[in-house]
Amino acid sequence: MSDRSDGATTTVAAVGVSGTEPATSGPRLLAGSPIAAEIRARLTEDFAAFKERWGQTPTLAVVLVGADAPSAVYLQQILRTCQKVGVDGRLVEIGAEVTPEALCTEIESLNADPSVAGIIVQMPLPSHIPLRTVIDSIDPAKDIDGIHPRNAGLLSLGYDGFLPATAQASVEILKRSGIEIAGKRVVVIGRSNVVGKPAALLLIREHGTVTVLHSKTRDLGHHTRDAEILIVAAGRPGLVTGEMLSPGAVVVDVGINVVPDGAGGEKLVGDVDFESAKGVVSAITPVPGGVGPLTNALLLSHLLRAATDQAEARR
Ligand code: NAP
Repeated sequence: MSDRSDGATTTVAAVGVSGTEPATSGPRLLAGSPIAAEIRARLTEDFAAFKERWGQTPTLAVVLVGADAPSAVYLQQILRTCQKVGVDGRLVEIGAEVTPEALCTEIESLNADPSVAGIIVQMPLPSHIPLRTVIDSIDPAKDIDGIHPRNAGLLSLGYDGFLPATAQASVEILKRSGIEIAGKRVVVIGRSNVVGKPAALLLIREHGTVTVLHSKTRDLGHHTRDAEILIVAAGRPGLVTGEMLSPGAVVVDVGINVVPDGAGGEKLVGDVDFESAKGVVSAITPVPGGVGPLTNALLLSHLLRAATDQAEARR
């Protein structure tokens, strides 16, 4: 089965990280930005070719309900990436007081708009909006972040569908860095539908031996110390420290947390305490600059696939 990383199939040179060797002169940083730049360069060409062939520029509709500041920052990054690859990004801002019915009507009008190839709805939603209602209302053919039950079901069955981009990025960063997953003991912290669970399914697909941990797991360190590869997606800064890791482990830190920087400002950190982890692991993704940039690039590769499928279906 192929995944939906279309337009993103080049592999960055494999490296000598085995995932089992202790760090000697500091860990290798698994940077997502160069991989993302490579994917974007290819996408820029592919979107230009799409425009040439079909006479239109695909639009990504980004639905933001209410004024959630962290979401707004994330959305600006997506819209900037759209601009870089020649895609129209349309921010659909909806007031926090919107009713569930009115929000679904808005999404249905995006489903029906032939210029819109992909739709993402920024989470979290205001508490009065049932998540399921919104997820169900997105056309699965435009659900480029893989949240609709149809795409989630396809993923769990191992069939072709749109993958949740962050989960995909957490696995792609390993593959494109030449890190072997097959046969490894892989531990995932987090079981959300958008990150932890789909990441675990993708890692099983890559033949990892996968264990999933969550907030009710007893003795997290007991499990993490067994991991040859650890994916952390909990949204808890500093959750994983060096003494919870086995020497030579490879760590993918998906967490994005805003914390005080100690000088009156704020900074972004992951879920892993980088300072204590860096002397133990063989490779680790930085935050920022790891999984995040790759997520956006993969999302736009999904948009290309959606736009192409829709254009061919309309022909
Ligand atoms: P989420 O929906 O809040 O899920 C967090 C998961 O972590 C849950 O399964 C939770 O367990 C588990 N967890 C929380 N505290 C834990 C603890 N102390 N020990 C073990 N497990 C714990 O968050 P999410 O949407 O999956 O996002 C996870 C992180 O990824 C966040 O920091 C988010 O900002 C980041 N993120 C990054 C990107 C990117 O592009 N890099 C994109 C999206 C999200 P329960 O299920 O038991 O509650």
